Amino acid sequence: MKRAFNFNAGPAALPLPVLEEAQAEFLDFKGTGMSVLEISHRSKEYDQLHNEVQESLRRLMEIPPDYRILFLQGGASLQFAMVPQNLLSAEQTANYILTGVWSEKALAEAERFGKVKVGASSKEAGYSYIPSLEELKLEGDEAYLHLTTNNTIYGTQWRQFPQTEEVPLIADMSSDILSRPIDINQFSLIYAGAQKNLGPAGVTVVIAKERLLQAKENLPTMLQYSTHAQSNSLFNTPPTFAIYMLGKVLEWVEKSGGVKAIQSENQAKAEMLYATIDQSNGFYQGHARKESRSVMNISFNLPSQELEGEFLQEAAAAGFVGLKGHRLVGGCRASIYNAVPLAACEALRDFMLAFKQKN
Ligand SMILES: *Cc1c(COP(=O)(O)O)cnc(C)c1O
Repeated sequence: MKRAFNFNAGPAALPLPVLEEAQAEFLDFKGTGMSVLEISHRSKEYDQLHNEVQESLRRLMEIPPDYRILFLQGGASLQFAMVPQNLLSAEQTANYILTGVWSEKALAEAERFGKVKVGASSKEAGYSYIPSLEELKLEGDEAYLHLTTNNTIYGTQWRQFPQTEEVPLIADMSSDILSRPIDINQFSLIYAGAQKNLGPAGVTVVIAKERLLQAKENLPTMLQYSTHAQSNSLFNTPPTFAIYMLGKVLEWVEKSGGVKAIQSENQAKAEMLYATIDQSNGFYQGHARKESRSVMNISFNLPSQELEGEFLQEAAAAGFVGLKGHRLVGGCRASIYNAVPLAACEALRDFMLAFKQKN
């Protein structure tokens, strides 16, 4: 069997040892004589797994005790709606920083539920940079400030987060959660669909200050954070297999030396590919401004669409998967999440150098 060089944007590469372990215990989970797919979410075996996965995420991300970890469904896209539904009341305004398509989508959902404003935006510049903290307009009386920590499509990433004082900071961390150490205390609520850095699609992780998770009587039960906080994310059947896989990925991160070690590896991978772009005399052009470059998603163009087409075709023939840019922006993109090995990035670098040489 030959494994592809997987640069998919999401669902994305998973660590090989995780897949192998899951395969090895697929038919018999912990001596139950059943697959983890077949056991009850009310069984003691599942309950233990569920709690262990939470604990290991808490350990790895150093999540303080006054934060709750929720395992929800509906993807980051449902969080675009749940955040304003639960946290934005009619009198208040929510502040959104626009740095790409995902933040636009989050804003559009909030508009359905209350007043919104845009505290900063890089839309005019094709979302090629992260607005500076000085540019940000924050009044101090907003219900919350929302930002997208890594912009999966445009390949930009926040380095430093705004100090929001009384205003709760809310972050969509779908495409860079667990890729670098984060001070959780800066945030009131973090959400992430799992399918980029955490595991397979199907589970959405929410990390939130406990006091934010108040009941909202007028909302459907399933859409209230309090429902899931009170039932330890077991109000209804959780996505058990996705949570099991998340647990395996977290174990892998722990064995790899934790988030700091993963961060250095990520930096080495990204620096190598950005250097390939920067040293190509303009043959490859990065989309993001240098100071805003993402360590997770590298979006770049070639001198013509024709060459981009050839590049993608030859790359596919050479075993590279997922290098086509997002359908909204075109070009090329290499998503190099935690589980993408350095060797895959080296192979891509060599391919890029050879392709440039030839053309
Ligand atoms: C992928 C992605 C989403 C969408 O996630 P779903 O789980 O498919 O809803 C939202 N935000 C960011 C930053 C993403 O990368």
